[in-house]
Amino acid sequence: MQNEINAAKLVVIKVGSSLLIRDGALDTQWLAGLTEEIKTASTRGQQIMVVTSGAVALGCASAGLDRQALTLEQSQAAAAIGQIALTQGWQDCLAGKGLKAAQILLTIGDTEERRRYLNARRTLQALLDMGTVPIINENDTVATQELRYGDNDRLAARVAGMMSADVLILLSDVDGFYTAAPETDKNADLIREVTDVNDELLAMAGGAGSAVGSGGMVTKLQAAQIAMQAGCHMILTDGRGAHPLSRLHETGRATLFRAMQNPLAARKNWIAGTLQTAGQLHIDAGAVAALRDGKSLLPIGVTQVSGHFERGDCVQILDCDGSEIARGLTAYALGDAQRIIGRASTEIVDLLGFDGRREIVHRDDLVMNQEGE
Ligand code: GLU
Repeated sequence: MQNEINAAKLVVIKVGSSLLIRDGALDTQWLAGLTEEIKTASTRGQQIMVVTSGAVALGCASAGLDRQALTLEQSQAAAAIGQIALTQGWQDCLAGKGLKAAQILLTIGDTEERRRYLNARRTLQALLDMGTVPIINENDTVATQELRYGDNDRLAARVAGMMSADVLILLSDVDGFYTAAPETDKNADLIREVTDVNDELLAMAGGAGSAVGSGGMVTKLQAAQIAMQAGCHMILTDGRGAHPLSRLHETGRATLFRAMQNPLAARKNWIAGTLQTAGQLHIDAGAVAALRDGKSLLPIGVTQVSGHFERGDCVQILDCDGSEIARGLTAYALGDAQRIIGRASTEIVDLLGFDGRREIVHRDDLVMNQEGE
């Protein structure tokens, strides 16, 4: 498991409320320990994103509300109050280690609707490129009941998938996934590695949750499914006590939910499997050769565009004979694409009035058809 963590370029760490909140306040000592570990990872060259719970718990304490008996409006109001202290706590602790925090509040739509997904992804990528540590939570205050994750386990898995993270670490108040509830069943065994979240496992998960957090084992398994499908390993481990990541390194006590493929392969499979493409990019012989060489598709190599596509849609890429040689996700909508094709990428800013991507289809978003297909 340590190999998976060490090899990861991008790691998402999900922190549950029960770790972070002690007697209604942030446990700054614990947080200082974790941010020290984040600093170590960042010095090693890894990028870290945090998904943190705690807004509702902090808000409840501040407003004197009982978390177990909240109406939806009360929990949204509590989140609005608590989120300030939550972010402030992270910002202070990270700053103490010389790291910059950035707050991102997401709703389901931001991770599932294509256009918003692309925007959220670009912003997060920009933040990572700037070397900041994004601190993410659900936007509880605006999320409506039907459109809420309600638990940060699945939100963290979606974010990990969205950003093609390599590993998602869920810091929890249990040290892994057991064959039965370890508090009540002496024969419960820790499962070290899971390669398939099947019905048997879901049955083992039961429905238990802890008093402070809102995600039980079932949501953790659902999170694992989301992450694994996106090519991201998920590690469930105990976050209690100082320096949980170093302890994980020493003891190895955790459950590894192993991704079946790497994030890039998962993304490419998804693109290759897109049944409905939204348009076509016709390209010249030079671009065909570049693509066969593993390069990205630049606007200058595109001779004609057709169809109705938005930025992020899957399009067919056709050679001079009109045969599909690849498909990929376009970085430009039809109208913008029409204006930039045949032109050098350096002209994009003048042609469109904004500085878009230099590639019309980036090689990470592009899958070649097998020759002869
Ligand atoms: N978003 C909620 C909060 O910050 C937590 C959800 C969860 O416990 O997973 O309080």
